[in-house]
Amino acid sequence: MHAIILSIGDELTLGQTVDTNSAWLAQHLAAIGLKPVAHLTVPDDQGAIRQAFEESVGRCDVLIVSGGLGPTEDDLTRQALAAFLDRPLELNEAALENVTRFFKALKRDMPPRNRIQAMLPHGTEMIENTAGTAPGIYCNYQSGDQKTLCQIFIMPGVPKEMKIMFERSILPKLAGAESGRVDPVSSVIFSKTLHTFGLGESAVADKIPDLMRRDRNPSVGTTVANGYVSLRINAYADSREQAEHDIAATEQAARAALGKLIWGEGDDTLQDVVATLLKTQSKSVTTAESCTGGLLAKFLTDIPGSSAYFKQGWITYSNEAKTEMLGVDAKLIATHGAVSDAVAREMAVGALRRASADFALAVSGIAGPDGGTAEKPVGTVSIALARHREEEAVDAHARTFIFHGDREMIRDRSAKMALTMLRFHLLGQPLPL
Ligand code: ATP
Ligand code: MG
Repeated sequence: MHAIILSIGDELTLGQTVDTNSAWLAQHLAAIGLKPVAHLTVPDDQGAIRQAFEESVGRCDVLIVSGGLGPTEDDLTRQALAAFLDRPLELNEAALENVTRFFKALKRDMPPRNRIQAMLPHGTEMIENTAGTAPGIYCNYQSGDQKTLCQIFIMPGVPKEMKIMFERSILPKLAGAESGRVDPVSSVIFSKTLHTFGLGESAVADKIPDLMRRDRNPSVGTTVANGYVSLRINAYADSREQAEHDIAATEQAARAALGKLIWGEGDDTLQDVVATLLKTQSKSVTTAESCTGGLLAKFLTDIPGSSAYFKQGWITYSNEAKTEMLGVDAKLIATHGAVSDAVAREMAVGALRRASADFALAVSGIAGPDGGTAEKPVGTVSIALARHREEEAVDAHARTFIFHGDREMIRDRSAKMALTMLRFHLLGQPLPL
């Protein structure tokens, strides 16, 4: 079964509001096997809305609409539906009761203009709104020649009202539980997302060529956001159990190919994952930062309870600060430059000697846009990890990376790479990058 999602509102077509309704609805429709085949967005314009109805009903089994049910002049969805159906708007008693009850609950008189919200095209049904004034509209559309059949559900645009109405009144109908008017769905779609950091999108895809085949079920796609490359696994199956089983097998294959490059899944954050490793191993970390200006310390303290593993860090932006606060030899800086493995190592060692921590991470780099050279272009970042050896002794290893992007991206990727180096160290594995 196919669905089209139609969002209505000037603020959406003008880009002033991001259409979150469509994304939310698409996920919930896909989860019950209703495949979204198109997302449409039109302004608060009766002609445009009517045209969207005309063009959609022949292309889907279910048309899910949100927006334009308000009481004001710019809310035209019900008028557009009436025009499309070629039926008059008439007062619906149940809808009027819904609107008046809302105002009664607030102990306010209903403004006369809200009466329009109880007007529905002849032959359509109201969908109760328990969270606002605008009742929804349900219409079992059939073309004159009976060739086109489409269930139309219209909801208010306010995301909270839309979600409550969808879950309370529309989902049961779509799942075939209530009315039987919509066929019970025969297939379900379930998804799982796995997150990686450190490799580019094509490098990740190259490691899992079989999983990326377009004709595969479950399908695997990659998406990139905030420097993370994520694998989206979508399974189409007859039952939830089957879908979960198929996803588990694909996940296992992905993990076999990518190993610990996969740092988490779903809503996990890299910060959380590293924090959990530190806490379960009762280890602590300190930081010495130059180009990231405290971002790494921020990431490490994003998690409530971070004082268990983080006590202090340094921001040593200038060469003098690196020498004065961390004891980095000025001659070392003069010889190798502040952005070098040698200086990053000394920063980490200096921080570890001065803090009571098990590990120190140091970051020194060129975030740009100025300051790059042919030898060390913008994006060159040296990151070091220091740890204790036997009594008194510490050692450190460092790596220099080149990150792409603007200043903000370079600083972000630097801090995430530092977390990644620590994560692999805590896992007892070499950095596979
Ligand atoms: P009503 O909610 O009264 O039926 P409406 O849905 O058109 O009418 P608006 O006043 O236009 O109501 O929108 C209410 C709020 O919901 C606005 O903040 C609007 O930006 C937001 N909104 C509407 N549609 C969407 C959408 N698709 N995604 C995210 N926000 C939306
Ligand atoms: Mg609107």
